[in-house]
Amino acid sequence: MARYTGPVCRLCRRHGEKLFLKGERCFTPRCSFDRRPNPPGPRPARRRKVSDRGLQLREKQRARVAYGVLEKQFVRYYKEAISRPGVSGENLVRLLETRLDNIVYRLGLADSRAQARQIVRHGIVSVNGRKLDIPSAHLKEGDTVGFTPRGLRSEYVKLVQANIKSKNPPSWLSLDAAGLSGRVVGMPTIAQGETHVFNENVIIEYYSR
Ligand code: SF4
Repeated sequence: MARYTGPVCRLCRRHGEKLFLKGERCFTPRCSFDRRPNPPGPRPARRRKVSDRGLQLREKQRARVAYGVLEKQFVRYYKEAISRPGVSGENLVRLLETRLDNIVYRLGLADSRAQARQIVRHGIVSVNGRKLDIPSAHLKEGDTVGFTPRGLRSEYVKLVQANIKSKNPPSWLSLDAAGLSGRVVGMPTIAQGETHVFNENVIIEYYSR
């Protein structure tokens, strides 16, 4: 399945909640979901009851859209999550949260995951002092994230500098606002309750059928 390139606010309205796909705009009165929370398209003649399977599918799609991951890759994450030791749901959360694009977004170096993915692809993000332009790369504890020398000279960084102080990264990341960099100081856990927007167990159930 190709990447969705249409208006992303429709996705929030389709999934019935704010998925925060547009950065700062999501926190302003210009948010489309706040103004029109109904699903896009013509109103159905009558509401149909959604099956359990349908609800699981919705949950999976919601997570996939929020993290900007294609179906094929999401299935790979599921397979890896169930093959690792520990709780499969927590493994899935870790696989999604430790992606480079997500960490750039969580640190506040980008306003949305889509923007994070774009700046990583443009080659202005570094990991442990070296350029890394693969948004899906997984980071581990102790890794540092920042900008490359070319990135630090870019106009984009000036915008980040202006807003970075208002960012509040989760406790498993530490942010050096002055140095425009961050560090992975732990691994995200479900118990921290600050990591993700979906019910991971429902997704594991969906794929395990
Ligand atoms: Fe969703 Fe953000 Fe658009 Fe609001 S502004 S509908 S939260 S993407």
